[in-house]
Amino acid sequence: MFTTLIRNGRVIDPSQEIDRIADLWIEGDRIGGIGEFGSRSADHTIDATGLIVAPGLIDMHVHLREPGREEDETIATGTAAALAGGLTSVACMPNTEPAIDTQADAEFVVLQAHRARNANVFPVGAITKGRQGQELAEIGGLVAGGAVAFSDDGSPVMSAELMRRALEYTKMFGKAVLSHCEDLDLTRGGVMHEGVESMRLGLRGMPAAAEEIHVFRDIALARLTGGRLHILHVSTAGSVELIRWGKRQGVRVTGEACPHHFTLTDECLRSFDSNYKMAPPLRTRADVEAILEGLADNTLEVIATDHAPHAAEKKDRELDLAPNGIIGLETLLPICVHALIEPGILTWPRLLAKLTINPARVLKIDRGTLRTGAVADVTVIDPHTEYVIDPTRFRSKSRNCPFAGWRVRGRAHTVLVSGQVRYSVTESAFARSSAR
Ligand SMILES: [Zn+2]
Ligand SMILES: [Zn+2]
Repeated sequence: MFTTLIRNGRVIDPSQEIDRIADLWIEGDRIGGIGEFGSRSADHTIDATGLIVAPGLIDMHVHLREPGREEDETIATGTAAALAGGLTSVACMPNTEPAIDTQADAEFVVLQAHRARNANVFPVGAITKGRQGQELAEIGGLVAGGAVAFSDDGSPVMSAELMRRALEYTKMFGKAVLSHCEDLDLTRGGVMHEGVESMRLGLRGMPAAAEEIHVFRDIALARLTGGRLHILHVSTAGSVELIRWGKRQGVRVTGEACPHHFTLTDECLRSFDSNYKMAPPLRTRADVEAILEGLADNTLEVIATDHAPHAAEKKDRELDLAPNGIIGLETLLPICVHALIEPGILTWPRLLAKLTINPARVLKIDRGTLRTGAVADVTVIDPHTEYVIDPTRFRSKSRNCPFAGWRVRGRAHTVLVSGQVRYSVTESAFARSSAR
């Protein structure tokens, strides 16, 4: 059996509360153990001195665009970008064309991911047929096809009655509903957060209440049904408070934050740059502070990117016409280091929990751990080397990134999926550019 030794790294595995200098032993596609294995000879040895050795990172909120919008991203390019960002697994949203709402659709995603041989892909099935919000999709068939959760992301489920049945039905399969919280009647025509800045800029706003109304509705419905609810891309202080309240009531609700929502504010829209346009929108400094608090007290136990690629010709338009969303796979780690580690809001073990075992638990997938016998998905992180974010080097097909030019630390050094090295910084664009 092919063996790999990752030597002398800071091994951090939040699933076992491990944080110490040690070696990681890998046999074939499985974790062999954490300990002192310096005397063993392996087929492949990686020196992780000064580096962090973590369970493979998981991004449970990604848009891969295939099928239907391959000009923006494909399963192959999106998963290559995931690897370069240090992610070994992504869950992809079903707002493709057609939507992933049948067993065959989910199976197609799994097959394409298998062919690409990059990061693992776990499909999310649509809640409603065609994401039209009218009738439930084939939940059972989607589960059989590999769907790990359910969402109409990109759109909310506007009918509370339908959302109630979705929570009841997915509960029977032990799956979570991932809710994009937005009352469309309140956001129609909006391009940014509604507040002082939107007034000043003369742009149509989307009020915080549009999100919070749905967060409260869905928590109430999760309480009613006993279903499992995950709130996607929490962007307002009120939403954080509602999730905190829901947890206190014993409701099965988890919360997710995206890097852009805890680093950027609606003041960025003064540039009229569409790389600051997304749904939910960038909010105020007070909202950013509340999300940071929610991350610190674990009200928000998941960090995900909402990676939403759009080809340049679509995104390079005036704000009204440009589509919502930004890419995030290749900036996740450095932005988390910048906003969470460096200011002391989270320690490395607490940050890595939100990127490994916590999303694995929401999706109930057997990943996010370095336990002996687990699948050997491993991310070796270089937390120190400083560099400048340059989207022209990204492996994603799209370039809609608001972090270009940021001077940052924190990047993937080596990424293993099922015990195989699938990404190494020494063979990446980073190395090519420094050799130039
Ligand atoms: Zn969404
Ligand atoms: Zn999304």
